[in-house]
Amino acid sequence: MSYDKNNIFAKILRKEIPCNKIFENEYVFSFYDINPQKKIHALVIPKGEYINLDDFNQRASNQEIVAMSKAISEVANILGISIEIGKGYRVLTNLGEHGGQEVPHLHFHLFGGEIIGKMVE
Ligand code: AMP
Repeated sequence: MSYDKNNIFAKILRKEIPCNKIFENEYVFSFYDINPQKKIHALVIPKGEYINLDDFNQRASNQEIVAMSKAISEVANILGISIEIGKGYRVLTNLGEHGGQEVPHLHFHLFGGEIIGKMVE
């Protein structure tokens, strides 16, 4: 499977469609999910063209991988949901059909602002 340059997050990164931006650096972009499942629901994505976490771990540079991991904590701090500042949150990424992935550009969901509940429903 090759990367689809017309997926919705690729269009957001190219600023072809708007988003509610939270954070950006050289490697990572973050914005609010358009259909929030919890009080706070953010997305954190790489700027590079990666389909999912497996693709990212295979092809991304160590710098990109470190930047993504650190950006998740940074976004959680910005949103006030980190353990340091708030009461905690959940990070989740879906891969492929069985994982329930809809948008074929790697993204981490951050859920917080309330008790998130069951691990899987
Ligand atoms: P997934 O099922 O893990 O692929 O999640 C895709 C997520 O992208 C869903 O939570 C959608 O609500 C979200 N989404 C789809 N289109 C947009 C958009 N234009 N802006 C922000 N979030 C979006």
